[in-house]
Amino acid sequence: MSYQVSEKVEKIFNKLLSMDQVQQGLDFIEQDQEQAIKDQKEIVMIEAPTFQEAKRAADYAKRLRELGLSNVHVDKHGNVLGTYLGKGDGPTILLEAHLDTVFPFGTDVTPVEKNGRIYAPGICDDTRGLAANLSVVRALQATGIETAGNIIVAGTIAEEGIGGMYGMRTLLEDHPEIDATISIDGSGRDSIVYQGTGIRNYQVSYTGPGGHAYGAFGLPSPIHAAARTIAQLSDMRPPDKPKTTFTVSLVEGGHQIHAIAEKAMFKINMRSDTAAELDRLEAKAIEIFKAGAKEENERWGRDAVKVEYEKIHDTPAGSQPSDSVIVQAAWKATESVGVKPRLAAGGCTNTNMPIMMGIPAVTLGRGGKEGGVHSLGEWFDPEGVYRCPQKSFLMLMALAGVRGVTEPLMD
Ligand SMILES: [Zn+2]
Repeated sequence: MSYQVSEKVEKIFNKLLSMDQVQQGLDFIEQDQEQAIKDQKEIVMIEAPTFQEAKRAADYAKRLRELGLSNVHVDKHGNVLGTYLGKGDGPTILLEAHLDTVFPFGTDVTPVEKNGRIYAPGICDDTRGLAANLSVVRALQATGIETAGNIIVAGTIAEEGIGGMYGMRTLLEDHPEIDATISIDGSGRDSIVYQGTGIRNYQVSYTGPGGHAYGAFGLPSPIHAAARTIAQLSDMRPPDKPKTTFTVSLVEGGHQIHAIAEKAMFKINMRSDTAAELDRLEAKAIEIFKAGAKEENERWGRDAVKVEYEKIHDTPAGSQPSDSVIVQAAWKATESVGVKPRLAAGGCTNTNMPIMMGIPAVTLGRGGKEGGVHSLGEWFDPEGVYRCPQKSFLMLMALAGVRGVTEPLMD
């Protein structure tokens, strides 16, 4: 599939790439790779479970301050922000990575180097994003390039799991001046995430009086009701496009083999790349939660099993056209550093939040080779990884505009 970049975007990139300062910036970032990896190995040592990022946030603020950004601070939610001041009245662009990791306090996070790889829980996700963005800041400062708009560089809290992208959401709510966002997260040097996969998780419970399997035979069973429900849920057929998925897990219930249970529970995870399909799937699932109880009661002719369900997580879905200007810019920036770009399908990254709010946004891959993400065996191979901050650097120039040289692509 060929991807079309508009003449306007094409021209801006040609102009940028012909500038000495931009070439200096790109060279600087390539030479800065070692420093960025040193930062990465230091930051990974500061444990930062979701909602417990304070220590890492303080360290990141110190780093941004040392690099000379303006107004560096930790906000009331725990996000770290610093600003590279623009010299015109261009748009404000956010470049961010998330501070939190999925590992609890006490995890051994000491980096170990073996066969060209760095092993440490969290070394990629998203410590690499944080370190890569520091390299971008150093390049901005080293070249003194005059962007038209301000660039906010941030470390956000609570991206992972239960965090539900809380940091990104609050940061955008507190900063309505932000016109576009670039998140660095996820593997790959070619990936451009421009959609936000929505997630809805439910906990469903069935309760009944329970009783002896033999003595109380004839009573509807919460476990049987849950099983009827799960069987029907399994038969749901959401569309392939937009990708829409579900799975039931964490099934519990009963305490004795010879007892009709008093309670059964399960959880269901539903996702879709569009809000409309997610709504449809959710409505269908809720109908089925109730049908399972009803059918079990009807089977025995007694209204004994009750169903309750609760939404325990909600990440909004959202989408932008694949030919939107920010996606085109990401495409060009990726090509410009010698990498063939790839539009990712779906995605569940901090980019969900801006997309939902109508702010142009992309998530770009961290750039190195990586594996075992979210496991204790997480590893990172830094070969050629400087291309990631190079992409971000070009994106920032293109989106924010360079004073007297290029018009900002965002407005
Ligand atoms: Zn991540």
